Amino acid sequence: KPNSFAARDAAYHLHGYTNALKTEKEGGFVVVRGDGPFVYDENDKEYLDGLSGLWCAALGFGKEQRIIDAAVRQMENLPYYHTFSQKAPAVTVELAERLVELASLAAPMSKAYFCNSGSEANDTAIKMIWYFNNALGRPEKKKIIARVKGYHGVTVGSGSLTGLPLVHKDFDLPIKNVFHTDCPHYYRFGKAGESEEDFATRMAESLEALIQREGPDTIAAMFAEPVMGAGGVLTPPKTYWEKIQKVLKKHDILLVADEVICGFMRTGNQWGSQTFGMKPDIMTMAKQLSAAQMPIAAVLISQRVYEGLRDHSGKLGSWAHGITYSGHPVAAAVALETQKIYAERKILDHVRAISPVFLAELKSFADHPLVGEVRGVGLIGALELVKDKKTHESFDASLGVGPNLIRIAHDHGVILRPVADSICFCPPLICTEGQIREMFKRFRAALAETQEWLKS
Ligand code: PLP
Repeated sequence: KPNSFAARDAAYHLHGYTNALKTEKEGGFVVVRGDGPFVYDENDKEYLDGLSGLWCAALGFGKEQRIIDAAVRQMENLPYYHTFSQKAPAVTVELAERLVELASLAAPMSKAYFCNSGSEANDTAIKMIWYFNNALGRPEKKKIIARVKGYHGVTVGSGSLTGLPLVHKDFDLPIKNVFHTDCPHYYRFGKAGESEEDFATRMAESLEALIQREGPDTIAAMFAEPVMGAGGVLTPPKTYWEKIQKVLKKHDILLVADEVICGFMRTGNQWGSQTFGMKPDIMTMAKQLSAAQMPIAAVLISQRVYEGLRDHSGKLGSWAHGITYSGHPVAAAVALETQKIYAERKILDHVRAISPVFLAELKSFADHPLVGEVRGVGLIGALELVKDKKTHESFDASLGVGPNLIRIAHDHGVILRPVADSICFCPPLICTEGQIREMFKRFRAALAETQEWLKS
């Protein structure tokens, strides 16, 4: 329809991560309202969003009166103030205090710095690390390691950390001083006869080799997601984090846990770091921090990192980094209320109760002829579709099996995300057992249709 939102979207709106030609031709998918895990298009068709938007809408898409009230109250009292040069809105201070307390469940943290997006948080963390090593009088220790298939954002710094060719190609990324170590996906990269533990050892040896090649005194930090989300929900192999952290410790390399997806209960604990025994020096977080109801992100730093910043800025006069909307009071009020709702509604207990249902539903696809691997933890998971179950051979990428399945699933009323031929699931944390089962029911119908399409 010429005047529909879909047509106007195609006419005026440039999307992220989208083939613009396709949008022009087909029109956009425009959402007009939400309710729990469901969203509705302009024809009022219902979709269960099995990816929580972009792995973020922990409380779903419905009206949260408490969050509305918190935002309105804040806008009435103080709609804006900033955090430069010793100033701060009161609510931002409250949120910082709460996050330092929460983060310390994973590792002792000392201070919170606020940003507007996950990308910005990771960029800020890079600058903190460089500043920290200048403070310690070791300016040569600046190189940063991330991982192939890791996702840390799209800005020049965080996009460099991201280990996906698509994000580098055509943008002249990564910047110098950023390196990528192996992707710890056992199913894809494990060798024949190699145990998961041996694979993890090989990953740690490969990291050590990279460090030796570049010079241990030049490596500042490693960035990593506890579970690699946008890389295809890749859960770490057994003993991986134990072995990786040993290498990092040996060379005094900081660990930055990117908790942008895993943080706030996604993996069945407050932090993904807890689930996998990571002891980070820095944590970055966004998304579920505010249940995606307001843009806000944070970088949490340990006392040691903070002291570096403090002592050096003492000498220089200031830590010369700041963002106009860092700790924006309305976003902070929304995030703080979100955290209170998580605690009062016992969302963590709910995630732990519902996760076995989610994981059992996922595992029920293990015997399906198209499914090569089932992976998941907490309320995040993926099914990797393959041409040959025995050899793990993938489908020819030009077939677009994953994206096509997602389109079919869309018609069946469930929104999911393909990463090549891995189908990712990350439903809102508030999903009921019935809604989880409904998500998989709709997906199962789409998978059956995909199987027919492949046969045809
Ligand atoms: N880090 C991780 C693990 C992410 O998944 C994302 C986004 O998906 C980011 C960072 C970047 O966050 P943003 O899109 O808010 O910049």
